[in-house]
Amino acid sequence: MSEHTSSQPLVGTLLARFGLRASAAEKALPGTVDAARERRREIMEKVTSFLLDQDLEISSTNLIIAHALATGMEPSLARKIEARKAADEPISGDWLREHSQVVETASERESRTDALLGKLDRGINQFTETTKSARSATHDYGGELEQHIGKLDAAAKTGALFTEIATLAKTMLERTRQAEEDMRRSESEAANLRRNLKRAQRDAELDHLTGLPNRRAFEALLDQQYREARAAIEPLSVAFCDIDHFKRINDTHGHDTGDRVIQAVAESLSRTAHENCHVARHGGEEFVMIFRNYSTQEACAALDAVRELTAQKRFVNRKTDEPIGSVTFSGGVANIFGYDNPRDALKAADEALYEAKVSGRNRIVIAST
Ligand code: GH3
Ligand code: MG
Ligand code: MG
Repeated sequence: MSEHTSSQPLVGTLLARFGLRASAAEKALPGTVDAARERRREIMEKVTSFLLDQDLEISSTNLIIAHALATGMEPSLARKIEARKAADEPISGDWLREHSQVVETASERESRTDALLGKLDRGINQFTETTKSARSATHDYGGELEQHIGKLDAAAKTGALFTEIATLAKTMLERTRQAEEDMRRSESEAANLRRNLKRAQRDAELDHLTGLPNRRAFEALLDQQYREARAAIEPLSVAFCDIDHFKRINDTHGHDTGDRVIQAVAESLSRTAHENCHVARHGGEEFVMIFRNYSTQEACAALDAVRELTAQKRFVNRKTDEPIGSVTFSGGVANIFGYDNPRDALKAADEALYEAKVSGRNRIVIAST
């Protein structure tokens, strides 16, 4: 199987697949201002032709997807589109959204949540610091005031003016104590807020259907594992898995049963997980894994063992007792250090998965580097 080492040949391939005309930018000298402008114009043209050819709405989601296709960020979707076109099936906005990876990952909602969580975190920290230092200042001030009141009380015997000053000071002391109490309460509310925020941050990294880390948590983990393994000179592999003919399960037994099948496969994959083997749900019926300190062959064998076990099971629809039969999945494994970066390795694993699909499914294929 082949791997795209830069986005340029991929864009070319996509162009050809969409039947669009040859790129003027490809002919222009690279690196010139004209070439850059020409490239932008070309992307715009591809986006427009795609939306018009498929008779799609000019919605923000469709534009994001069309842009991702035009710039080569959606190779797997491009393949699916090609297959759909060959089968003469329509490409609707719903279908695109369901199969697109970019709408899920680069969703503005996620980054907005991130920004909000970060802001909240900083806000709470600042609030706690301010309250703490205000409370300690008030406390010191209250202590001093108390001392003065003692002296004033003694001096009050000598005249009414001192009595009045002493009364005033007592009132001030009472208010200071009240303020101190309010600040103590605020501090405990801030601690509560921080606990809630930590929970929200954990939630944002969790897939709620399977309890596995979600794609965003996986991407962070992949970067971390990559850095660590590179520094320690340890092997590192990545795998992409996808349940076979999952749509049929949904169509025949309903979406809820489909969900339970996703949970069951997640559970099988999780059983192999340990500190050097991580599993996450990438989205839909797709899972990703990281194998640290495994050669690519070992990672493939470990995944193949789960595949085999899963394929041997016979599933039953819990609600109707109807047999679902066997559930299989296919996988692609890639050696991360065989590629320029972890993203390219993941793409290669996805391409190997595609090869596993076209060569019959229910199998694991190693990506060639
Ligand atoms: P292939 O063997 O080629 O992978 O075929 P497939 O039918 O599994 O592939 P396809 O990608 O066409 O179908 C995946 C389906 O998964 C489409 C979508 O409706 C469904 N799906 C995505 N997310 C969920 C989910 O969370 N729950 C359920 N029940 N279905 C989902
Ligand atoms: Mg899929
Ligand atoms: Mg599938």
